[in-house]
Amino acid sequence: MPRAFITGITGQDGQHLASFLHSKGYDVYGMVKGQSNPHVGAVLEEMPFIEMVPGDLADLPSLVAALNMAQPDEVYNLGAISFVALSFNQAELTANITGLGVLRMLEAIRMVGGSQNNPIRFYQASSSEMFGKVRETPQNEQTPFHPRSPYGCAKVFGHDIVVNYRESYDLFACSGILFNHEGPRRGIEFVTRKVTNAVARIKLGLQHELVLGNLDSKRDWGYAGDYVRAMWLMLQQDVPEDYVIATGETHSIEELVERSFGEVGIDDWRQYVRQDPKFFRPAEVDLLIGDSSKARERLGWMPEIDFPTLISMMVAHDLQVEAAKAGIEL
Ligand code: NAP
Repeated sequence: MPRAFITGITGQDGQHLASFLHSKGYDVYGMVKGQSNPHVGAVLEEMPFIEMVPGDLADLPSLVAALNMAQPDEVYNLGAISFVALSFNQAELTANITGLGVLRMLEAIRMVGGSQNNPIRFYQASSSEMFGKVRETPQNEQTPFHPRSPYGCAKVFGHDIVVNYRESYDLFACSGILFNHEGPRRGIEFVTRKVTNAVARIKLGLQHELVLGNLDSKRDWGYAGDYVRAMWLMLQQDVPEDYVIATGETHSIEELVERSFGEVGIDDWRQYVRQDPKFFRPAEVDLLIGDSSKARERLGWMPEIDFPTLISMMVAHDLQVEAAKAGIEL
């Protein structure tokens, strides 16, 4: 059985990827940071097949030990400080984990290596936030980077060091430049989930207000389940390359809000929504829309879940969860 090692196993993508790889017959190892990580129990309850291995992207020896333990064929580096807003407050930590963490993972792979006939293949979770103040629209693999946050800057370093190690040491290493992808497993701090969860709670009478930042911001939003398939496809190619993964559609936060309230039959949504400048970013990214033609042509990848279905899925999930927590029968 092939073996996969995933950092960021407790995050949204780590869980989707673990489930996807398990269905493909992989043995799945997940790296967990911290001495009593609060997320691990829930992940293992749903996916008991995952072998959890301790390790931290800030600590190279722990990465080497984790790889030695797992002996993987494929490494997916999804671990990161991934919340843009937090990266402005904890810029140094973000640079260390989201940026230097990639370098440490690559070094660990060079040390552990894998067999000569079957060297470890490496996937790095790059981000559309690297395009930031965009130089062209839509953005593709050739579009220059201009990050607008410490998170984006750290991701650019991670991306560049993957290219450098691929060229310098002939590693099978590639990056997926993924545009925003969401789903019921998205962290509650991210705007899509913040909205769908608040809408569910407002519908159930558990909350009365939704406070947001810039309603005009636009994003290219896809479904996380579709995007982890692209990660795997990249590592099955003969040659390691980088790919943009995106839907090619853009939607505003206002549209997200309107559609989410629409899902629970609330049309006059403005009475529940308030804008607060504290949720505006110090520097906003421009219009992010991805051109994923390369992935569509070479990997045969296509998103399967569209924006309305994604929002519908997330609101339905949050209604179930919030109703169950509050003991309300739907
Ligand atoms: P997420 O839900 O925020 O998960 C981040 C993961 O990183 C968590 O499992 C977290 O572990 C782990 N982590 C944090 N600090 C760590 C450290 N020091 N050592 C090891 N692991 C650490 O993120 P996601 O949405 O699944 O995204 C996965 C990756 O794709 C991230 O690198 C993200 O930046 C990138 N990305 C995401 C999107 C998107 O729209 N979702 C788009 C482009 C790129 P704990 O929870 O245990 O702290």
